[in-house]
Amino acid sequence: MRDSYDAIIIGGGIIGTSVLWNLVAQGFKGKIALIERGDALAEETSAKSAGAFRNLWGSRINMEMATYSIKFLKTFENDFNIPIGFHQHGYLFTFYPEPWETIKSYKPTFDETGVKAELLAPEDVEKMVPGLRAGLDRIDPDIVEFAGFEPIAGGLFGPDCGSFDPSAAAKGYTERAVREYHESVEVILKTEVKRIELEGGKVRGVELTDGRRISTSVLVLAAGPWSMQLLAVSGVPDSENLPVDPIKRQLFVTNLPDIPGYDHIPLVIIDRGIYFKYETGNLQIGRADPDQAPGFNQEPSLAYYKDEIGPYMQERIPGAEHCNVKSMWGGLYSVTKPDHNGILGQHPAYSGLNLANGWSGHGAMVAPAASLALAELIVHGAYKTVDATPLRFERFAEGDLVVEEIVI
Ligand SMILES: Cc1cc2nc3c(=O)[nH]c(=O)nc-3n(C[C@H](O)[C@H](O)[C@H](O)COP(=O)(O)OP(=O)(O)OC[C@H]3O[C@@H](n4cnc5c(N)ncnc54)[C@H](O)[C@@H]3O)c2cc1C
Repeated sequence: MRDSYDAIIIGGGIIGTSVLWNLVAQGFKGKIALIERGDALAEETSAKSAGAFRNLWGSRINMEMATYSIKFLKTFENDFNIPIGFHQHGYLFTFYPEPWETIKSYKPTFDETGVKAELLAPEDVEKMVPGLRAGLDRIDPDIVEFAGFEPIAGGLFGPDCGSFDPSAAAKGYTERAVREYHESVEVILKTEVKRIELEGGKVRGVELTDGRRISTSVLVLAAGPWSMQLLAVSGVPDSENLPVDPIKRQLFVTNLPDIPGYDHIPLVIIDRGIYFKYETGNLQIGRADPDQAPGFNQEPSLAYYKDEIGPYMQERIPGAEHCNVKSMWGGLYSVTKPDHNGILGQHPAYSGLNLANGWSGHGAMVAPAASLALAELIVHGAYKTVDATPLRFERFAEGDLVVEEIVI
């Protein structure tokens, strides 16, 4: 390790590693260090992700970033010489009558922007998800009342959506960067940044937990849900820190329901934001708990599945009561409180401090576009491929939030 680099990236998840690749591929001049505190890359949020991707977004920036990223991931295995489990199994959102009216109004925008999207009648939703009942006639009236179930009025299906393995992609990005640009790239594991040195409105370097100091004038903060803490201990006041909370999210792997056809389902989103997809002979199921308090606890809870997911899922899909949890894990979303969207670009108060944070549950799927955009900004001084200006830090003060209607 040197005592000075031209750029330092903090964090070796999908974001930090893809920024590393894009910096060198864009022609960054000088030595770059990627510093990761773990003993391997991408073992935190990126490994705990469902790895799902979709181009069905209501906001143009998310649609553009996801569209670029899906195209990029499609050829990743060939381009980076590593399998990433890329599979376009499709995404099916189901909607109650009121939101369905809004969703239908997005169809012309999808068509204009080339995003493949199909509006499905309730009977077509039932055909796509074996055993699902769109109506309420056979659902327990108590559940209907207690959980606010409504009939499914329609489905939005995106055939180009799917999933991939973000940690494999993180490794692919890094290995290719090291292979092709070994003279300018250094990956430093088992090394933790204690604080970022900021003086006179500029990045000066980092101090490590072992006391060493490394100077740099270009820093990329890609420390996932720990980014806010790092800024706070570096002396950044709350008003200039990221408006982001770490929030636990959980995934459960169960056996398939006793219904034929589950190996061909898309990722499906039903009542209460419960989502599930086929995963190598099993079902992977999740739901973002709206009552989860911010914090760094990542412990999964079987009770959460039993109380908040299973009973509701089996009402909509009789047969799902046979889905028993085989494994489960928790991880942290970095939730941007004002608008649940990423924060990308240079921090307005600190020259050289580049942000790539607050991805709020969709950081893996936009990583290829977001990291390219940030690298273009650093190397060329402007966005060239996707204009990521809407994700600037300044939007919070300006009240120019990125409003997204298609959320789970
Ligand atoms: C349960 C779950 C499901 C998800 N599902 C999806 C999905 O389907 N689709 C999708 O797009 N996204 C999904 N996400 C979100 C997605 O996984 C994240 O947005 C993405 O992985 C963020 O990547 P990252 O590189 O910013 O963070 P991380 O992968 O967490 O990487 C940050 C790295 O920084 C390191 N680090 C932290 N502090 C320091 C320090 N001080 N010094 C050195 N290193 C440090 C950490 O060790 C870590 O390796 C999901 C997340 C969870 C938790």
